[in-house]
Amino acid sequence: MPRRLEERRIVLASHNAGKVRENAALLAEYGIAVVSAKELGLPEPAETETTFLGNATIKALAAARAANMVAMADDSGFSIASLNGDPGVYTADWAEQPGGGRDYAKAMAKAEALARPHPDRTAWFTCALVLAWPDGHTEGFEGKAMGEWVWPPRGAAGFGYDPMFQPKGHAETFAEMDPAVKHRISHRAEAFRLLAEGCLKK
Ligand code: IMP
Repeated sequence: MPRRLEERRIVLASHNAGKVRENAALLAEYGIAVVSAKELGLPEPAETETTFLGNATIKALAAARAANMVAMADDSGFSIASLNGDPGVYTADWAEQPGGGRDYAKAMAKAEALARPHPDRTAWFTCALVLAWPDGHTEGFEGKAMGEWVWPPRGAAGFGYDPMFQPKGHAETFAEMDPAVKHRISHRAEAFRLLAEGCLKK
């Protein structure tokens, strides 16, 4: 049996504003307020694992121990089938700039340049959500959103690689659609549904 979350306020172990916004909205539906790791001035641990769940666990545990509160971490990324799932857990690294900061237009252009020769346009997003308690207990859940990569990028909503991803069964990219629709069908929404079933109560 997964451990239930009794707390009404938790730490979101992320410094990514897009992820904080989307996860805060999902948790708010369950009456759970959040404070972000950035607001608390918590350091960002190195993501040394090779899986989304592994890296989310590192981030959630580090935040839970540092803040002495339950923490939730989101490790997510974009995968292209013809690139054997890359950039995958290195999705954020591909956007890293030599002088600091992230450039997602450049990261998307790199992904497109590598994938362009391949006829298979299958792509997906993965999201791992992990809850960690200060005593070291963790619960982890993973969701996926399947679709295709598109070029050129389209749309201005969302964040990260949203403009180059068109989910299966939709004519718009994640960045073109109403954010409410993305919230319903995304990899993050699926991971959160599983987390809610296991650990939350309305
Ligand atoms: P992380 O902080 O290592 O989990 O980095 C996740 C990376 O995946 C970041 O570069 C995000 O921009 C990207 N990413 C995660 N979720 C989404 C999403 O919902 N839309 C677009 N990009 C995403």
